[in-house]
Amino acid sequence: MVVIMKPGATAAQIGAVIAKAEKLGCQTHPIYGEARTVVALVGDLTQITREPFDALDGVAKTVRIQEPYKLSSRSARPENTIIELANGQVVFGGPEIIVMAGPCSVESRQQIIETAIAVKEAGAKVLRGGAFKPRTSPYSFQGHGLKGLEYLAEAREITGLPIITEVMTVQTVPMVAEYTDILQIGARNMQNYGLLQAVGKTNKPVMLKRGMSGTIKEWLMCAEYILSNGNSNVMLCERGIRTYETATRNTFDLNAVPFIKETSHLPVVADPSHGTGLRELVPAMAKASVAAGADALILEVHPDPDKAVSDGRQSLTPAMFEQLMRDLRRVAVAVDRYIGEAPVNIDAADVLERVRG
Ligand code: PEP
Ligand code: MN
Repeated sequence: MVVIMKPGATAAQIGAVIAKAEKLGCQTHPIYGEARTVVALVGDLTQITREPFDALDGVAKTVRIQEPYKLSSRSARPENTIIELANGQVVFGGPEIIVMAGPCSVESRQQIIETAIAVKEAGAKVLRGGAFKPRTSPYSFQGHGLKGLEYLAEAREITGLPIITEVMTVQTVPMVAEYTDILQIGARNMQNYGLLQAVGKTNKPVMLKRGMSGTIKEWLMCAEYILSNGNSNVMLCERGIRTYETATRNTFDLNAVPFIKETSHLPVVADPSHGTGLRELVPAMAKASVAAGADALILEVHPDPDKAVSDGRQSLTPAMFEQLMRDLRRVAVAVDRYIGEAPVNIDAADVLERVRG
């Protein structure tokens, strides 16, 4: 159920709605939109009726949300959720399409700094890189952990790019949150409810990847775990699902992009790297994602993909990424969006010389 306040409703009127709901045993989540405030009520609402709320001053109307995903639903909040990073220089959910790029794993200081400079020069706005890697085999490279986070922080310092990195366990949430700008929940952890609750209690934006066997409804319910713990900065990332098809690593469910945009106010990210698993397919599916309405892309880029310790087969070279950014700009314009211009005059030569030693 959501209690929709009239435009200009006062803090005292909103407070009275919250007090009434709490007295009736509901949890409340005020959602402050530009035009109006909505108070979402969650919990066991079977005995709750609309009348006590409709009678309060400042209330426009009370609406029962039919969907099980209450806080992420567009009926609870018609306007897009806007997530801002780097003092408003990076905005998810607005007209600009944000491109996040970088290697699958942070492999070395030199590798992450070189990649950061290359993707920034091509126009990426966020640097990706895994320090804790969820590998299918326990014998594969597991990531550099804390050292990887330090390298990412150094790459941010040099380039100014905010960073996104995966957090895999409840115990490491404080450590990863201290370094990163966006916490990534990987596909394998989509339904790790303890982890979702833990990131829901932080004040960092969270990108929740779709589980490889997760339905869209299950995925939205996972977003509810984060939202209902008080963190409203959640974005959803489609990264492909497992089907009977074996020609590609996953089946990239592009339907999910417009479906989520219709159903939810949360920003949608598309990951055609994991969605396809094949670098030659990534540009086409990245362009298709923008055409389908994605708010952001996350792309794997490696200076030497054939030598990558993870996901080299799906990683773009810096040159491929640069070309793709040029093509994406044109697709974005065709759907009334844009991708910010690539910065000019980065003095990268000196930094690279130092890093390469
Ligand atoms: C990744 O982003 O490198 C990753 C492990 O993705 P996913 O969780 O989607 O497999
Ligand atoms: Mn990867």
